[in-house]
Amino acid sequence: MRGMEKTLHIIGGGLAGSEAAWQAANLGISVVIHEMRPKVETFAHKSGDLAEMVCSNSFRSDDHEQNAVGLLHWEMRQAGGLIMETAGEHRLPAGGALAVDRESFAAGVTKKILEHPLITVDYEEITELPSSGHWIIATGPLTSSALGEAIAAETGQNALAFFDAIAPIIYADSIDMSKAWMQSRYDKGDTEEERTAYLNCPMDKAQYDQFIDALLEAEKTEFHEGETAKYFDGCLPIEVMAERGRETLRHGPMKPVGLTNPHQPDVKAHAVVQLRRDNALGTLFNIVGFQTKMKYGAQATVFKSIPGLEGANFARLGGIHRNTFLNSPTLLDGQMRLKSQPHIRFAGQITGVEGYVESAAMGLLAGRLAAAEIKGEVMPDLPQDTATGALVHHITGGADAKTFQPMNINFGLFRPVEGLKGGRRGRTDRYKAYTDRAKNAWSEWLSVQG
Ligand SMILES: Cc1cc2nc3c(=O)[nH]c(=O)nc-3n(C[C@H](O)[C@H](O)[C@H](O)COP(=O)(O)OP(=O)(O)OC[C@H]3O[C@@H](n4cnc5c(N)ncnc54)[C@H](O)[C@@H]3O)c2cc1C
Repeated sequence: MRGMEKTLHIIGGGLAGSEAAWQAANLGISVVIHEMRPKVETFAHKSGDLAEMVCSNSFRSDDHEQNAVGLLHWEMRQAGGLIMETAGEHRLPAGGALAVDRESFAAGVTKKILEHPLITVDYEEITELPSSGHWIIATGPLTSSALGEAIAAETGQNALAFFDAIAPIIYADSIDMSKAWMQSRYDKGDTEEERTAYLNCPMDKAQYDQFIDALLEAEKTEFHEGETAKYFDGCLPIEVMAERGRETLRHGPMKPVGLTNPHQPDVKAHAVVQLRRDNALGTLFNIVGFQTKMKYGAQATVFKSIPGLEGANFARLGGIHRNTFLNSPTLLDGQMRLKSQPHIRFAGQITGVEGYVESAAMGLLAGRLAAAEIKGEVMPDLPQDTATGALVHHITGGADAKTFQPMNINFGLFRPVEGLKGGRRGRTDRYKAYTDRAKNAWSEWLSVQG
């Protein structure tokens, strides 16, 4: 019985679950992965392999000096990460990106997991929340409905989403404040911070008309087969609002009321685009109500036509997807444990990160934290200055729980390095300083566990 208590159970053998299992097993822990495929399928997975990449075959930029995703790659490699090691073995030429042959990659991960002496794979769907033991739930954006319902019963329906509705997020230092200004509608709020919580970008009639035309003409992505459009009840994409009538947005998220432009106090804006702080650091802003199914290229063009956002640098573009994810800022502690059931950790996309690399990184962290716990070790808090730390800190605390949507890794999640130039010009030095600082902090943290 005591032996069983030392076993780590992982539900879901995707990118996060496979990485979590690998990390824990390499730290001497017995692991059982419970994977429902191929018995139970999802609309996106095509095989019974572990760690299947369901869409693109790219892990994005491999530049660990100037790119936050590349830095995550670096951190995972330093930690002996399965996903990065196997990606390296199945790499395809893709310039600075890390792209792989997806079939041989997933087959490679599956082989290594099945051959690991401390890992067993049970091919079964788990439909209930485990009541005891050590567990990681890494069932991803397409968590089976039975388990999704069990999670929602524990967390409350409002704390588990089944669709994301992501508005674009922009680096604060790329917004032109000679056109934009900070003000909450009708100056509402008890503190100066609340009265100036929103960043406003004004449009005159001609600019608004052009913007609506661009929205209507922009290329849109289609839903995947099997995805439903339930999201329509709650949050319409802006282009769908525009299709319903040219004035709809002006009466919705772009209404110009309750705002005075300090740059032109006598001119009444025809429409106003509002942005809201997206993280506690104040380095990122999201465009309020601008969830969209426009293609990425079209989004960049259309959003840069907004006065003040001409030079916008996007931390992430918008999207709407089938995506099961937790309201992690309210539900998880800094060790990725469910506060109400601390024997259960969550990892991967279901924690509210977005992307293969981010999901695998959260698996890596959860696997290491679970292994330490089972061995009775205490891991020091993961420094926020690492890429993995910046991400986990964002989802478990830094993000605003009320507007929480999935996040990918970006330098806006990092604490600023003092004394460096802001804006576009200082970017190369700034990013190098972030990645140097992260590498030192990550190496030190890893050395505790070995
Ligand atoms: C359609 C789609 C396209 C995407 N495209 C991209 C992309 O191009 N690039 C990118 O970076 N990210 C993409 N993502 C987002 C995300 O990065 C991937 O979904 C990634 O695979 C998430 O990793 P994960 O380990 O959290 O989940 P997954 O890799 O999905 O792994 C979860 C595993 O859990 C299993 N499972 C689910 N429920 C149960 C259960 N009850 N019992 C047992 N097993 C269960 C599933 O079968 C699956 O194997 C996409 C997501 C979707 C849905």
